[in-house]
Order: sequence, then C-alpha cells, then structure tokens
Amino acid sequence: MIVSVESRADVKRVTQALAGYGQWVARVEQTPTEQLLVLASHGAAVDAARLREIPGVRAVSTPESTRPLLDAAGPTVAVGDVVIGGAKRVLLAGPCAVESEERIHALAATLAQRGVAVLRGGAHKPRTSPYAFRGHGDVALGWLREAADAHGMKVVTEVLSESDVDAVAARADLLQIGSRNMASFALLRAAGRAGLPVLLKRGAAATIDEWLLAAEHLLAAGAAGVVLCERGIRGFDPETRNLLDLSAVALLANVLHLPVVVDPSHATGRRDLVVPLGRAALACGAAGVMVEVHDRPDLALSDGPQAIAPEDVSQLGGWS
Ligand code: PEP
Ligand code: MN
Repeated sequence: MIVSVESRADVKRVTQALAGYGQWVARVEQTPTEQLLVLASHGAAVDAARLREIPGVRAVSTPESTRPLLDAAGPTVAVGDVVIGGAKRVLLAGPCAVESEERIHALAATLAQRGVAVLRGGAHKPRTSPYAFRGHGDVALGWLREAADAHGMKVVTEVLSESDVDAVAARADLLQIGSRNMASFALLRAAGRAGLPVLLKRGAAATIDEWLLAAEHLLAAGAAGVVLCERGIRGFDPETRNLLDLSAVALLANVLHLPVVVDPSHATGRRDLVVPLGRAALACGAAGVMVEVHDRPDLALSDGPQAIAPEDVSQLGGWS
C-alpha cells in the first residue's frame, strides 16, 4: 500500500502510527505536492480505511498488481486428476534423462508403488557442455509417456526450444521450462500457447519478482496454470551445486499462496542432501518435491551424483 501524507513534518509521526498497525515504511518518495510512504509487503493485514484515520494521512492506495493473472490463478494447479497445491503433497520423480525404454519402465514401476504421482525425465536435455549427453529426443518422449501410462502416472518433461513445443505437448501433461530458460520470453509464450499447465523452474540468478513475471508471461500466453519450482540459486560455496532458497518457498507458499514445489536434486547436486532438504521444503509449505532417481547412478548419463535410489523417495511421502 502507499500512504500519502500532507507534509514533511507529518512523515515521522505517521510512520510511528503505522508501526502501531504492524505496517513498515519501506521507502519515502517525495513529489512537489505530497510525501508518499511506500509500505513493505510483509506488514500485517489491515483495512486501508483504518490507516486513513491517522491524523496527517491524506490518502491510502493500493498499486495495481504487476501480475494480475498469477494473482487470480489461486494456489492450485490441476495436472489431470493430480492437484498440485491441494491438500495432498505431490511427489514428482524420475531420472535426469530418459536413458532407455527398459530402464524408464522399470523405474516407473518402482516409483508408482512409492506414491509418485508425476514421472519426470528429460528427452531434450540442456547441458552446460556441448559434448555431454543431450537426451534421446522425441523417441524418449514416447517411452516416458508409455511408462507413465502403464503405472497411472502423469508426465513432466522439459521443453527446450520453441520448435519442440508441439512434440512435447503431445506427450506431456505438464511442460517443464528449465532454469536456464526461465527468461526466454519467446519460449515462454510458445509453451503457454500449448494450453497445458507449466512447471517453471527459477533461473539460477533470478529474483523472485523476475520469476513470478515469467509465470505471468506463461499465463498471458494461455498456460492452464503455472507450478513454480525452486531449484536453488547461484551461491558462492562449491560444496553444494546451488543454494536452495527456502525463504522464497516459504514466501510463495504461505504469504503469496502460490503453488510451489522444490527440486532438492539440482539445488544440492549431491544425493546425501536430497532427502533432508526435500523434507525441509515440505515442512515450510512446498506443495510437492521433485527428485532425480536412478537405479545405477554410477552408470547415469547425466547427474548421477545427485540421483537417489528409487526406494528412497518413500522418505519424502506421508506429509499432509
Ligand atoms: C532438469 O530438471 O532436468 C533440469 C535440467 O533442471 P534445471 O533446469 O533446474 O537445471
Ligand atoms: Mn538433472
């Protein structure tokens, strides 16, 4: 909210009175005719009419939202009959990359038994090195779909470029926009036009506001809903791959009431931290957890060090 006061002399007194209502002034803007007290967004819920009664206050206004569609979308996203952000926490799990038809079928069977509702796996992989395995492409989309269908699961997989949108949308229930592409606006618009729900990973150096505006792009283009996925931001300590921002998760889940899931696999880059951080994410309000699994991580074609055993996803289940 923005509180306009009559004169400079009123600023201090009104600021103190606002604190009595649990409101904190983030900054003061001066115009030739008034002083504007811009309130921090984390203040207590209070009726604007009460603040207008403070002596010296001329007007109280609420600036228009920069993300009206996201605000209106609410806290849940339906992926078929799987509701993300509803009463039940959702597990999304699978390999980093879909490596073979046999392996994805075997993994799907184990994961379905352990309560995983959404099967993940990359067919088109973004890789830091151009010489690393970049996925089996469209053929792997078919393997993933069939494996999920055989065990009653939904599919999430990454769409890496605008030219892949149709092929991925034909096989997936939830389109994934990867961290590296969070601000690729043409891709966001193309993915949104598919009309499916989208899982939007946070860019490694993106602010929360930039991330939420990227979600607004998806909704503006026609996405059926956006699940926000925190996967760690760039930190300074190489002991972990990224720095999991649980503050952002708590903010989105508890204050902004948006559907947010956490990917502790890419956040940490190491399997010994995946379960503890997945549990921490659920404890602070995440609607679900997405993890990478592999039955033979020593043979994984990508991200082996962060893959947990398929059986270990059970340690993330059972939250209400
Ligand atoms: C992935 O989930 O497969 C992936 C590449 O993750 P991120 O975009 O978070 O790096
Ligand atoms: Mn990976």
